Amino acid sequence: MADKSPSRPQPVEKPVPAREQGRRTAPPTPRRATPIAAGQQSVAAKSRDNADGGEEGEDEEAEHEGGNNFLLFNAVPSWVTSMIVHIIMLIILAFITLENPFKSALNELIIGEEDVTEEVEDFEEEDVPEIDVETPTTEVAVQDTSVVIPQEVTEISPANDLDAAPIAVELEDVGDRTAPKNDLLAAVGAYAGNGLSGRGASARAALVRKNGGTPGSENAVALALQWFANHQNPDGSWSFDHRVSPMCQGRCPDHGSITEARNGATAMALLPFLGAGQTHREGKYKQVVYRGLYYLIAKQRESTQGPGGLWEERGHMYSHGLCSIALCEAYGMTRDRELMQPAQLSLDFISSAQDPVGGGWRYQVKERGDTSVVGWQLMALKSGHMAYLNVNPNTIKAAYKYLDGVQADSGAAYGYTDPGNGQATSAIGLLSRMYLGWKKDHGPLQRGAERLSGIGPSDHNMYYNYYATQIMRHLGGDMWEKWNPEMRDYLVNSQNKAGHTKGSWNFQDPHGASGGRIYCTGLATMILEVYYRHMPIYQKAASEDDFEL
Ligand SMILES: [Zn+2]
Repeated sequence: MADKSPSRPQPVEKPVPAREQGRRTAPPTPRRATPIAAGQQSVAAKSRDNADGGEEGEDEEAEHEGGNNFLLFNAVPSWVTSMIVHIIMLIILAFITLENPFKSALNELIIGEEDVTEEVEDFEEEDVPEIDVETPTTEVAVQDTSVVIPQEVTEISPANDLDAAPIAVELEDVGDRTAPKNDLLAAVGAYAGNGLSGRGASARAALVRKNGGTPGSENAVALALQWFANHQNPDGSWSFDHRVSPMCQGRCPDHGSITEARNGATAMALLPFLGAGQTHREGKYKQVVYRGLYYLIAKQRESTQGPGGLWEERGHMYSHGLCSIALCEAYGMTRDRELMQPAQLSLDFISSAQDPVGGGWRYQVKERGDTSVVGWQLMALKSGHMAYLNVNPNTIKAAYKYLDGVQADSGAAYGYTDPGNGQATSAIGLLSRMYLGWKKDHGPLQRGAERLSGIGPSDHNMYYNYYATQIMRHLGGDMWEKWNPEMRDYLVNSQNKAGHTKGSWNFQDPHGASGGRIYCTGLATMILEVYYRHMPIYQKAASEDDFEL
């Protein structure tokens, strides 16, 4: 497990600088150039040593001898002269033997420098381009072969310190107080610090076992990520019409109809990677994630709806909410400064697009809200808060009012644009309430959750399943024990297992016609990531209630 990570990240992490550098410093030189240079160096050095050392030694000896004789010849007795001459000769000899190694070392250094320089220059021109091209290819090949993720994702996400943030899990009913921004948002769940901490490999493997995942569910996630990687477009995006991707070319049926909504499709594909701990800096899909994020950031710069917007035709605020979640999660997991501004701007756009009267969001900026679009914006604000970005507290308060306006049965059920009790809208409303501070034992929350538990997982409505699964997971207990195996095994069994569609899903989902296979696969994968995607909201707060998680 740990073997791969130290050796691989270097060429992958900064591919471009590495390549540029490669041309200059010629990484392959050690392979051929160094041995040759070393060989020449030592041979040359030796031959020059012999030649120089011999000549110089004799010359010096003669010179010194002559000098001594000339000075002392007539002044002292002959035995003294002889003795002095011998002593001087001994000293000179000593100097000669000391001098040679020094000189030869100098020679070697000089010779070495010349030879190495020549070799590097030669090498640059000949072989570097080939190596250069091969590095990324190897990376792609690796992606295609392996399937089991837990062994690949060895790096732990930066937010992996399980002890780092339990303090933040103070759940309070924020509707009752006008609190400073941070206190208010501390109630938006257990996000600060440990909300994303389950995504690192070691933490994740343990969480999968502990929280009801199986090797089968993890394998399904791995297959799904591979399917997504195979359906990425050359510009880094995904399309709900997945047929346009070069590797698919129509081999998967059930494409979605909202082809204009590339931002939304890209976010829907990126989120399962991020949920599994795969970022642009860690994991085997670094390049895939990097290109996807880059696509979103580039699109954000072209926004016509306001700074930071990823609003688009036919995807509307749905697209923006999904993209904002992806940017905030990627930033929160990597702390990459390049992502900080795009993520923050996407949150600011959510605030500016909120209906100033009702507090909700819908298709157009400032339009009267619907619960479905509201759900994605709140998830984005939550992700932003988890990443320590700024979330406007007034936005949260207004959203709270929106939920009040569409709730029924004191908040146990929620309607689409008015009070009601739709399955999916109730699930969205209840999860939003949990994020906004309702405690686990809050009556309407329990009542609503029990109702959903009675209905059970749907065999086609992944949108409902996505929200309801998270509610059950956060609440835990009997409802979760009942829900999880049914939901998990249904997804594992219904995934396409062979052929080109391997790893994907398609359901008769209410949004399936517009979102197609990308949409269904995105939601199904995220449901199977529930064991580690977000740490349970009530993990710490509920410890006094013998709440096991
Ligand atoms: Zn395909």
